Amino acid sequence: MQEKKVPLRIDGKDYECDAGITILDACVKAGIHIPTLCYLEGLSQEAACSICLVEVKGAKTLLRSCVTPVGKGMEIFTNTPRVRNARRLNLELLLAGHPKDCLVCDRNESCELRKLAFDMGIRDIRFPKTQESELPSDNTSVSLSRDPNKCILCGRCVSVCSAVQSVKAIDFSGRGKASKVTTFFDQGLANSVCVNCGQCLLVCPTGAITERSSIARVWEALADPRKFVVVEVAPAVRAAMGEEFGMPAGTLVTAKIAQALRKLGFDKVFDTQFSADLTIMEEGHELIQRIKNNGKLPLITSCSPGWIKFAEHFYPEILGNISSCKSPQQMFGAVAKTYYARKYNIDPRNMVVVSVMPCTAKKFEALRPEMMSAFDYWKDELGLAEPEAFYDVDYVLTTREAARLIKEGGIDFLNLEGEDFDEPLGISTGAAVIFGSTGGVMEAALRTAYEVLTGRQLEKLDFMNLRGLDGIKTAEVDIDGLKLKVAVANSLGKARPLLEEVKRGSSPYVFIEIMTCPGGCIGGAGQPIPTDEETRTKRMEAIYREDKNKTLRKSHENPAVQALYKEFLGAPLSEKSHHLLHTSYKKKETVF
Ligand code: SF4
Ligand code: SF4
Ligand code: SF4
Repeated sequence: MQEKKVPLRIDGKDYECDAGITILDACVKAGIHIPTLCYLEGLSQEAACSICLVEVKGAKTLLRSCVTPVGKGMEIFTNTPRVRNARRLNLELLLAGHPKDCLVCDRNESCELRKLAFDMGIRDIRFPKTQESELPSDNTSVSLSRDPNKCILCGRCVSVCSAVQSVKAIDFSGRGKASKVTTFFDQGLANSVCVNCGQCLLVCPTGAITERSSIARVWEALADPRKFVVVEVAPAVRAAMGEEFGMPAGTLVTAKIAQALRKLGFDKVFDTQFSADLTIMEEGHELIQRIKNNGKLPLITSCSPGWIKFAEHFYPEILGNISSCKSPQQMFGAVAKTYYARKYNIDPRNMVVVSVMPCTAKKFEALRPEMMSAFDYWKDELGLAEPEAFYDVDYVLTTREAARLIKEGGIDFLNLEGEDFDEPLGISTGAAVIFGSTGGVMEAALRTAYEVLTGRQLEKLDFMNLRGLDGIKTAEVDIDGLKLKVAVANSLGKARPLLEEVKRGSSPYVFIEIMTCPGGCIGGAGQPIPTDEETRTKRMEAIYREDKNKTLRKSHENPAVQALYKEFLGAPLSEKSHHLLHTSYKKKETVF
C-alpha cells in the first residue's frame, strides 16, 4: 500500500507532506519560496525555465523542483551557494537573448522576469547577445499583440490556451534556437481559432503578449472639440481598478473611477451596468418566450465575446441555442448613439463611445461588422453613405489601459472623493453589478424571470449555489411549481461538457451561463496583473458587496431602463429592440 504522508527535511527542518507531490509544492506548503518563471499551479508543467533548481542529498545534479516528486526521507536544500549560482546562470542565459526594453515595455511594473532578475541580484549579464536580428511581432489580432523577442519559451500561454480554455490556438514549433510559440502555420492569431480571451497574456511572465492599445486614439478623441465623447464602465472594473493604484484587491472604487474619467474630459461618464439591466430585460424575456412557446432550449447566455467566437468555431450546431442578445457593451453603444443622441440632440456622427472593460475580447467584439446598428438606424434619416459607417462602440480600453490613461492625465486617483455616474445611462441596479462575476448573469436573469412569470415579489434575492469560483455550478429553481434546471460554467474548458450535452440533445438544463474567463469578468484578461485565485476571490466578494449596497437589486426596477422602453423601444423584444439590441452568429472556419 502506498504511504499517504512522507517525512522529509528541507533546509535543515523536518516536515511531513503528501506522497506524490513535487518538491516545489512541498516547499510552497512549508512556506519556502522557490523562484520560477514557467510553473503554473494546477497545470501540467513544461519545466522549461530551470530556475526552480534545488539540491537533494545524494543526487548527482541539481533537480528541477517543479517536476521532481518528493521521496521518503529526502533531504532538500533550497538556498545553497551551488543552488543560487545555478539559478543565476540559467536566468542570465535567458536574459542574454532578451531585449532590454524595460523602460518602454508595457509590462514594466508587472513583469516577473524583470523582477526576478532584480531580486536575484543580477546587475550584469556575462554572455553575449544570443538573438542577432529582431523577430517580427504578430499584430494580426485586434485584441492582442505577440512579440516573440520577449518570449522566454516558458510555455505558460500554451498550457492555459490548451488546458484551461481547450482552444489550442498556439503551440511550440521548431527546435533549439528556432523554437518558438506560434499559431497554426504561423498565420497569426487573427487567422487562427484564438478567441481573444487573453488568458495567455495574464499568465505570461514577460511583455511577450500585450493588448492592442487604444489609449492614443482616446486621447485624440478627447482633444477634438467637435466630438462628444462618452465612456461606459463595465461592472468588474470597479472591483479591480484600485489594484493599479496600489490598493488591495477587492477595493471598490466605483465613485473614484467616475470622477477620474470626468476629470479626463469625457463629456458624459456612464455605466455599462445600465445596459446590463437592459440585457436582463431582453434576455429574461427571451427565456420566458422560449419556455412558453417551446423554443430552442437550453438558452445560453451571449455576453462573453470569447465564448461566442468559441461557439462559432467549435459548436456551430448549437448557435441557435445562444441568446440573440448583444452584450451589455454593445447594447450600450447602440442605445447611446440612437436614444441618447436623439433625446439630447447630438449628431451620432460626432459621438464617440469609449468602453472600459475587464476583457481583451471586447476589442474584437466592438469591431464585428454586425455591430453598426446605430448607423443603420440613422442612415436614411441623415442620408448617410456606406463609407460614413460608424461602429456602435468606437474604442475599448482594458482596466489596465484606463488606469494608464488616468495616470497619464496626472490624476491623483487615491485622493479622489468620488462622484456619481451621469444620468440616465449611469443608473443601474444590483442585478447589473453581479454581471461581473461568474453566476451573476444567471442570478440577475432569475430575479427578473421569477417576478415576470409569477407577478409576485421574489423574497430571497441571493442564489447562493450559483456563486463562487467552481468551474461548473448547477441549481434547480422552483418558479410556481415550474422546475427550472440551470447551469453556470466559467472558462471554456469547463463549458465543454455542458456543450457536448446540448449538442447531443441530452442537456437537462433550460438556461446555461457561460463566461470565457475563470471567475467570469473579474478574471478577464484586461484586469490588473496578477489575476490569480486570491485576487479573483476578493474581486468577487466586492461585486456581491456592491450588489447588497444598491437600493434597487432587480433589473426590471431600473427607472432609466423603464424610461427607455416607454420613450423609445416600446417593450422587450420589440421590433426596435431586435434591430438595436439583438444580433446573430455565423459558423467560423476552424483550422488547426
Ligand atoms: S518583458 Fe520584462 S524584462 Fe523584458 S523588456 Fe519587458 S519589462 Fe523588461
Ligand atoms: S487569447 Fe485565449 S484563445 Fe487566444 S491564444 Fe491566448 S489563451 Fe488562446
Ligand atoms: S509568450 Fe509568454 S507565456 Fe508564452 S511562452 Fe513566451 S514568455 Fe511564456
